[in-house]
Amino acid sequence: MRVLLTNDDGIGSPGLRALAEAFSAHHETAVVAPEHERSATGHAVTLHKPLRARRIFTYPEGVRAWSTNGTPADCVILGVLELLDGRPDAVVSGINVGANMGRDLTYSGTVSGAMEGAILGMPSLAISVASFVDVRFDVAARFAERLARQFVEKSLPPDALLNVNVPNLPEGELSGVMVTRQSSRRYLSRMERRTDPRGETYYWLAGEPGPLGSDAVGTDGWAVAAGFISVTPIHLSMTDDRLFSELESWDLGVA
Ligand code: MN
Repeated sequence: MRVLLTNDDGIGSPGLRALAEAFSAHHETAVVAPEHERSATGHAVTLHKPLRARRIFTYPEGVRAWSTNGTPADCVILGVLELLDGRPDAVVSGINVGANMGRDLTYSGTVSGAMEGAILGMPSLAISVASFVDVRFDVAARFAERLARQFVEKSLPPDALLNVNVPNLPEGELSGVMVTRQSSRRYLSRMERRTDPRGETYYWLAGEPGPLGSDAVGTDGWAVAAGFISVTPIHLSMTDDRLFSELESWDLGVA
């Protein structure tokens, strides 16, 4: 099959390289990725400046690779519409350094790369390793390849994608693989206020993941904490069916 790889950690990320090695052993593989890190760019696309793509020749033989000045979503659109010869059979985004679970999905450039693939009608997955230190990519790379082969064969329903989080463990220490729901865990954000060398105040967003709620059993964060690879089916629709009939019963006049 033909696979398009992207990420938000940038073209030089070892996680993206691990994906390229795992996929190019079996599939026609192309890489289109940001030239530098674009983590937490969400689903931004570039409308107000030129997009540039530059061929990169440091990837394994047979892998066609480009770095761009765009976001992960830009990279997928550019790859599919312009750079690749024909539509890929799958889009894979990652392997991200750090988990993308719960409310992270809204901010994640990694997940948005896969979301753009889904919007363009291709089976897509995002994959992250849940650690920032001594990150191992071997298990995640093999899992992504195996999963992508299956979803191309079985296909995904429209507007769906898969979000995968892998514990930072050797294969033998994993508890298994679990299909999960997205948790409601969010970052506990705080602003650090500092003073620059000119005496002006600046702010830097900081924080740490909040606790898993009491309803966390069966969610992404719960599964990864228990040593499972978490696979969450994600739907692009944001309509809240719970509120639909409730809203219809409101007095929704203009005046
Ligand atoms: Mn990232």
